[in-house]
Amino acid sequence: TRKREGKNGAQIFDPVILDRTRQRAEIEHDIHEALDNDWFEAHFQPIVDTSSGEVAGFEALMRMRHPDKGLLSPAGIIEVAEETAIIGRIGDRILEAAIANLARLTSHTGMSDTYVAVNFSPMQFESPLPLRLVRLLDRYGILPHRLVVEITEAVLMHDNPEIRTILNEIHTLGCRIALDDFGTGYSSLSYMSRFPVDIVKIDQSFVRSIEDGSGIGQKNRMLVEGIAAISHKMNCLVVAEGVETAAQYGVLREIGIDCAQGYHFARPRQVDDILAELQQRKHIVPQKGS
Ligand code: C2E
Ligand code: MG
Ligand code: MG
Ligand code: MG
Repeated sequence: TRKREGKNGAQIFDPVILDRTRQRAEIEHDIHEALDNDWFEAHFQPIVDTSSGEVAGFEALMRMRHPDKGLLSPAGIIEVAEETAIIGRIGDRILEAAIANLARLTSHTGMSDTYVAVNFSPMQFESPLPLRLVRLLDRYGILPHRLVVEITEAVLMHDNPEIRTILNEIHTLGCRIALDDFGTGYSSLSYMSRFPVDIVKIDQSFVRSIEDGSGIGQKNRMLVEGIAAISHKMNCLVVAEGVETAAQYGVLREIGIDCAQGYHFARPRQVDDILAELQQRKHIVPQKGS
């Protein structure tokens, strides 16, 4: 810890700790304001099918539209929300916004098979979750296979039997489960056999240098090939995250990745903006030869 002791053994306030404490308090305050005033939004980033070039689905990413600070990314917010257990309330908002917006996109575009992928924190896996999903999907007329539940190793790592039961229930409903950030942290291959995983999302750290024919890029390419082979053997779809260039996309297509997501196609945006652009261009992501 950063606590320091003075000459006479008295605790001295470390300005760094004080700053962090203040920052956390401020974020917590903002979260409450955001819940009260509806500042949370689900932005949509397209996920592209590599064989057709069409949009297979969207990942819903949380944003806070703060009236003074502008549009805030989830980085610091999620961490504080998980520590203070308020993540459940934020998660509910994002989940409903994601499903409602998918319904809106469907009615405006006729994309009746695209999915929405929603990120979940460990604390959201409580027994009422499956029933809540059924009710929400029903309310917005969305079939269960169009909801993808994204989880990270943080959800799986303690092998909590209650979480396993809830995941199995969600899977039985027909919703799909995606393993996010795969290949980083303590993610273990055994998650693929112990939990009902349908989609593996390869972390962007593997994609970043993949077009490099040498060094770390070459090694990352081999890792991605290996992860894809194992995932396909386990009947999982493979999505590559953080695809920023045409060169990276080219390599991923060669490898046989099923879907790709990243700034090369589009950044996460409000669904209003996506709809507006669709009216002009007819396509969400750039099409070959146009
Ligand atoms: P994630 O689920 O792995 O989401 C992908 C992140 O990569 C997003 O960051 C996205 O904006 C970013 N990204 C997409 N394409 C590119 C690219 O080409 N290059 C780069 N450098 N980045 C790209 P974002 O939106 O800041 O979200 C960060 C993380 O916050 C997410 O990582 C997820 O773990 C968490 N998160 C976001 N929304 C929610 C939510 O509603 N609930 C929970 N529990 N967590 C969320
Ligand atoms: Mg995700
Ligand atoms: Mg990820
Ligand atoms: Mg992540």
